Amino acid sequence: MSRRTLIAGNWKMNGLSGALGYFDAVAPVAAQAAADILVCPPATLLYPVARACEGTRIRVGAQDCHAHQSGAHTGDLSASMLRDAGASHVIVGHSERRADHGESDRNVQAKAAAAIAAGLVPVICVGETLAERESGEAIDVVARQLAGSLPDNSATVDLVIAYEPVWAIGTGLVASPADVADMHAAIRERLPNPATTCILYGGSVKPANAAELLSLADVDGALVGGASLDAADFSAIIRAAGS
Ligand code: PEP
Repeated sequence: MSRRTLIAGNWKMNGLSGALGYFDAVAPVAAQAAADILVCPPATLLYPVARACEGTRIRVGAQDCHAHQSGAHTGDLSASMLRDAGASHVIVGHSERRADHGESDRNVQAKAAAAIAAGLVPVICVGETLAERESGEAIDVVARQLAGSLPDNSATVDLVIAYEPVWAIGTGLVASPADVADMHAAIRERLPNPATTCILYGGSVKPANAAELLSLADVDGALVGGASLDAADFSAIIRAAGS
């Protein structure tokens, strides 16, 4: 079975309601794209972005969810709330959340399970630190994160993996093509559903490097942070995935 390329933008904690003109520029590019397109704005913009993207090929994702669907969790948002606001996907286990909020693989697994239960596709992030890469442990670390973060029913559900080396996120540094290909192959062979699971690369993907990264074996798309904030740059990355 073939996998469709996915180009996903992660706006992180950026974007106010005045940013919605972005979609006037990106929607026509998405309409011509060979890839599926996903934009993950901050939660405050989920509903307006979902409305702005109605009738386009842009799908909308959230950046995190709680592991429970409701309850006494002040300030948190459940997967079912995100779906209700118009999300189809949710990023879980982004390295910034693992670092800033102490999220463990077990937390990420519970969030991914909650996303699936609510009808969302989880985009499960994994990736090694620079120290782990330099000590030759990168594949072992990512394999461990993957084993701990995949929900029990992973073989039968739709999910996406994003390999994001922590040292490449927001730094302008990019893993070498050989290291990306090796890591994606290592991830693929550990997936319960290898033929149909998309594995994205993330970490300083830009218009200038997107085509090469997307051409690598086992790279099924990109998770784009900084460059997704600019409609022209994100459009160029979408175009790099073909039309
Ligand atoms: C990300 O936030 O997931 C990311 C990969 O960021 P950047 O593209 O800015 O490195």
